[in-house]
Amino acid sequence: MAKAWLSLGANMGSPARQVARALQLIGQNQNIRITKKSSLIITSPWGKTDQPDFHNMAIEISTGLSPLQLLDACQHMENIMGRVRGEKWGPRLIDIDIIAFDRIRMHEPRLNLPHHHAHERDFVLVPLREISPDTADWILQIKKPD
Ligand code: ATP
Ligand code: CA
Ligand code: CA
Repeated sequence: MAKAWLSLGANMGSPARQVARALQLIGQNQNIRITKKSSLIITSPWGKTDQPDFHNMAIEISTGLSPLQLLDACQHMENIMGRVRGEKWGPRLIDIDIIAFDRIRMHEPRLNLPHHHAHERDFVLVPLREISPDTADWILQIKKPD
């Protein structure tokens, strides 16, 4: 079993309900077990600031899936929840990103591990630190400029 950390975010509809629904869907996947949950925090938008605040949380999971299978599962759950990809970093019903997957480093067109912006986003790092300070420190350490 691998350990992975997911970031959940929403800022359309009823964000807290959508995050709860995403947790339910993730928990229903037979290959994923949620082992830790951070608090749900409200954050200002990042990257594109003229949109509503986000609700964000991080979870730790134990999974038998590979990283790309986990990405497929996350995107499938986003689709089930009606996510439509519009403007980059624009408003969304739900976003499920893989922050990190064990200590794997991967740079592929579909998947960057750890997540390429994790180290510069407090809305990812703050909830992650609550459930896995070692993973937050590892991300900052490897993303540190030389
Ligand atoms: P950002 O990736 O900057 O957080 P976003 O979440 O709004 O932006 P999306 O439209 O949800 O972007 O995803 C764009 C693509 O990012 C996905 O189709 C996926 O292939 C790719 N991707 C690369 N690395 C990851 C990762 N660690 N977790 C989730 N998606 C990733
Ligand atoms: Ca994202
Ligand atoms: Ca995403």
